[in-house]
Amino acid sequence: MNYEIYNNKIKLIKADITTLKVDAIVNAANSGLLGGGGVDGAIHKAGGHKIHEECMKFRNKKGRCHTGEAAITTGGKLKAKYVIHTVGPMWNGGYNNEEELLGKCYENSINLAVENEVRTIAFPNISTGVYGFPKKLAAEIALKKILEVMKTNKNIDQIIFVCFDDENYNIYHEMMRGIQ
Ligand code: ADP
Repeated sequence: MNYEIYNNKIKLIKADITTLKVDAIVNAANSGLLGGGGVDGAIHKAGGHKIHEECMKFRNKKGRCHTGEAAITTGGKLKAKYVIHTVGPMWNGGYNNEEELLGKCYENSINLAVENEVRTIAFPNISTGVYGFPKKLAAEIALKKILEVMKTNKNIDQIIFVCFDDENYNIYHEMMRGIQ
């Protein structure tokens, strides 16, 4: 079941993010932008070598992508035109500014999207896999930040939260029902 709020501007779906036809999908990357497991691995695998090549160009020019920052590349073989790679914080009990850094991932990804005239963008549940961020807290931060952005931003037509696992989907579903 899909869920839509704000006149279809914010949407929740359960899907594999690599299958989506949107302007940009966001990747929960690592700071080396080398690809890895989870959603990162899936995106690099489905998008092909062009994504990796552009990640390496970014690294050669700017070095690592730090936690909370974002970098944009082609979507390669994906249906999405762009991939926005953002580096989520690894959960460390909340002692390393993880909450603010996770908010920055969403904010910086949106800023980069707007700069590149992206109108539809899909986010995975950043940091809630291998990086161990508590799922409910991560969803609260993501939703709060996106609602904030959508109040002032007129350039983005649609933001899609893409959940892969039932637990995240149920958390988002409950939360979005609460703000309907
Ligand atoms: P992180 O290191 O930021 O935790 P992970 O890739 O381990 O990144 O997990 C982030 C989230 O991405 C998890 O909630 C996981 O269920 C989800 N995920 C994994 N594969 C996909 C996919 N193909 N499409 C969408 N979400 C995915």
